[in-house]
Order: sequence, then structure tokens, then C-alpha cells
Amino acid sequence: MSAGQLDVVGIGPGNPKWITPEAASVLAQATDLVGYSAYLARVPTQDCQTRHSSDNRQELNRARQALSLAAKGRAVALVSGGDPGVFAMAAAVFEAIEATSPIWDDVQVSIVPGITAMQAAAARIGAPLGHDFCAISLSDNLKPWAVIERRLVAAAEADFVVAIYNPASKARPDRIQEAFARLRRTRLATTPVVFARAIGRTDERIEITTLAEADPTKADMSTLIIVGSSETRLIARQAPASPYVYTPRSYGARR
Ligand code: SAH
Repeated sequence: MSAGQLDVVGIGPGNPKWITPEAASVLAQATDLVGYSAYLARVPTQDCQTRHSSDNRQELNRARQALSLAAKGRAVALVSGGDPGVFAMAAAVFEAIEATSPIWDDVQVSIVPGITAMQAAAARIGAPLGHDFCAISLSDNLKPWAVIERRLVAAAEADFVVAIYNPASKARPDRIQEAFARLRRTRLATTPVVFARAIGRTDERIEITTLAEADPTKADMSTLIIVGSSETRLIARQAPASPYVYTPRSYGARR
């Protein structure tokens, strides 16, 4: 049997308009779709296409399943929310390949990019990522909490805008509180903070607040948090419009 193709496809944060034409065409041509059930539910169904849905936590198993289907000659689309390269399935596929090399040598792997949550959230409110920023996942499923803490402190001290993915879950409700406590030690109380929930979905909700006033318990697993740098600021608008949040291109030019 000739080896097949594995496309790791990003479908964006939720709004179907944010699925790229390339992603839509790869999804339409696949013989098999593999992914977390909530992501597969966002892909239009097609006859003659087999769906293999799984639990969100089974990343490596899902990667192996997709690789083994492709090795059997199938055209497999492994579906990821947002961008597949950002805290998602693309890296899991390469981990699986590296761990079991060379058995997947005949499988062609391509990564089809998508809009990641921080881009979508930023676009909704202005341009908070307009200058240097970093992205940190608060999930300690796959890395020790001490590493996360060290990175948060370093990012805060280096004055990056910080996009926080995976801010909370039922299994670790207190970590987000610890993270905010850390940030508050370094960043000004007036630093803009944005809670962007379910961006691009029907239940989208955005809250613009400050580091002093932010209530981190409001964040859930569908929330992306953006914590500004010392330069990030608001431009007020006439109510009921919310202010624009942006970080200027030039650093240190504050009037
Ligand atoms: N690959 C995805 C990220 C997966 S990690 C991407 O590129 O966006 C899952 C985290 O992404 C969530 O906990 C949340 O922090 C963020 N996220 C994903 N979709 C989101 C959305 N529509 N609105 C806000 N945050 C989202």
C-alpha cells in the first residue's frame, strides 16, 4: 500500500469565516478526519469521509492514530483549533514521529496554518500585540508549574505583552490566581488586561480591565488573556463602544 498524506489543519478560533481557503480545501479532500470532537463538529460533514473523534487530552495517541491511518494510504486531516503549531497537534505529530522514527518515513506531513486565538482576540480590541509579545500556556499537564512561573516572571520583567493560553481548568482553578499574583508584583496596577472568551463563537465575550481590577477567576478554558506591557494603552471611545487597546510600534515614545 502506498503511503498517504497527513495534513495537520488549523480551523481558527471558531468563526467559519476564519477558516482559510487552503484549510477548507484540504478538509474537503481528506478521506479521514481525526480530532477532538468539539473541533470536528465545526467541520462540514461529507459523505465518504470517515471521522475519528477523540478526547482532548489524548494528543499523542491522536497523533499516532492519524499517522497510522496515513501510513495505510489514507488522506488524513488532523484537525486543530486555531493554528496547529500553537499549543496544538503539529508538535504532537512531530513528537510521535521522532519517538518512533523511521516507521513513519513514507508519510507526507504538511502543516496547514490557521488563525490563532491571540490574533483573533487582538483583532477584536485593537492592536495589543503591536510590539514585542510572548505567548505562555498555563497548562501544567505537559510542563512543571515551576517552569510556567519562571517564564511568567521573566516575561513580566522583560516588559513583553503576554498572551496567556489555557488559563484555567477545573483541575487547576488556583493556578491563574498565582499567575496574577506574580504579574502584580512586577507590572503596574494600571496595566491593561483583556479577557477574550470564545472569540468568533456565538457566546463571545470580551472584558477590558486593569491588572489591579482583573478577576482571574472569570477565565475558563475558552478564554485567552492578554496582559499589556508598560506601553499598552487605551483609546476611549463614545459609549457604548469599548475603548481600543493598543501597543504602539515605537517603544518608549510615551508622551
Ligand atoms: N491551537 C490553538 C490553541 C490551543 S490551546 C490556537 O492556535 O488558538 C487552547 C487555548 O486557546 C484555550 O484555553 C484558550 O486560551 C485559547 N483559545 C482557543 N480558542 C479560543 C477562542 N475562540 N477564544 C478565546 N481563546 C481561545
